[in-house]
Amino acid sequence: MNNYKQGTKCIQAGYTPSNGEPRQIPIIQSTTFKYDTSEDMGKLFDLEASGYFYTRLQNPTNDYVAARIAALEGGTAAMLTSSGQAASFYSVFNIASCGDHIVSSSAIYGGTYNLFAVTMRRMGIDFTFVSPDCSDEELNAAFKPNTKAVFGETIANPSLDVLDIERFAKAAHAHGVPLIVDNTFATPINCRPFEWGADIVTHSTTKYMDGHASCVGGCIVDSGKFDWTKYPDKFPGLTTPDDSYHGVTYTERFGLEGAFITKATAQLMRDFGSIQSPQDAYILNLGLESLELRMKRHCENGQKVAEFLKSNDKISWVRYCGLEGDKYYELGKKYLPNGSCGVVSFGVDGGRSAAEKFMKNLRLASIETHVADSKTCCLHPASATHRQMNDEELKAAGVSPDLIRFSCGIENSEDIIADIEQALNTL
Ligand SMILES: *Cc1c(COP(=O)(O)O)cnc(C)c1O
Repeated sequence: MNNYKQGTKCIQAGYTPSNGEPRQIPIIQSTTFKYDTSEDMGKLFDLEASGYFYTRLQNPTNDYVAARIAALEGGTAAMLTSSGQAASFYSVFNIASCGDHIVSSSAIYGGTYNLFAVTMRRMGIDFTFVSPDCSDEELNAAFKPNTKAVFGETIANPSLDVLDIERFAKAAHAHGVPLIVDNTFATPINCRPFEWGADIVTHSTTKYMDGHASCVGGCIVDSGKFDWTKYPDKFPGLTTPDDSYHGVTYTERFGLEGAFITKATAQLMRDFGSIQSPQDAYILNLGLESLELRMKRHCENGQKVAEFLKSNDKISWVRYCGLEGDKYYELGKKYLPNGSCGVVSFGVDGGRSAAEKFMKNLRLASIETHVADSKTCCLHPASATHRQMNDEELKAAGVSPDLIRFSCGIENSEDIIADIEQALNTL
């Protein structure tokens, strides 16, 4: 399966029915699973046999879909979570505890910023935020002896900064920690962070993967490449016996390819229970089947809209890495040669009030907190998703007060552009 192209994996990977079995991934809508003897079940609890016992931890439908995403990313193991937020939280909390420290790009989704800077700090985990454009010296200076990971977004939501994944991976590895990359906006169709040295990938599957604004969900994928056993003092949770799970040592029992995801399932899913429902996993999979086709159209529309905006004199600035001259044009060419995504950020002349008037006058594009699905939509982050940030924090996150996040759907681009044009004409 790993030799197939991405478009084939979208449809075929992760689930291969045997003779007489359902062609489509079945929805296993069951909380629990039946066994003949207590002994059989005991082996599952000891992680000595693999199998299902309770859907709070694992469900076959979810695992088929997770395996499909793992194949698309080129990873060794994956799990679905109930949301992208849960995926971000688990990816960090699986290797960092009270007293630990994380280096994170400052250009990240507002919800992730809040999770890190407020909620996880309250759990005793410290974060240092660095600009994705910081110098190597600044990046290296952010590490501390208790640093456990580096976190960033391939294409930041909503600033659209492109992360220099290779550079951040090198710095992380030089300090003996993994790089975690949120690959939501690029999707594995446009970028595979593992090929550039990232170790763990997270997704909000709510966005392009589902693609139809149907289901909130998340995913974590492990590359299987980070050698936790080289740094046993840093990652005792993976390299020493887990008393809460009958003394299993995850790296010994499941190898580098399975340790991270098995630990996140056995401990975090067991205790926090942020599982995706099998129904939602099924719907997510319908989205995955057309992911490659849809990403092409999203990128085509994004490029056309960005070019239109750039040539319009009522627009003060446009950010889209597919535009020649964009700050991230070169990094985009390196990491996103087939296109970035359908999201374009821009400012209109007249700042905040003009932005609000422009958005009110759009007819096709709707105002939503959502982004990255089949229907064109837009948002003013400074008054919505990022409203908890002060001006300085907004600046660090690459979000100016006049920024409009415009998410091109897969409608006909002429209609999207005509809508923007008529709304601009009202200014
Ligand atoms: C939306 C989003 C998240 C959070 O995902 P939810 O599914 O809404 O919990 C995380 N990262 C990025 C880049 C996002 O766009």
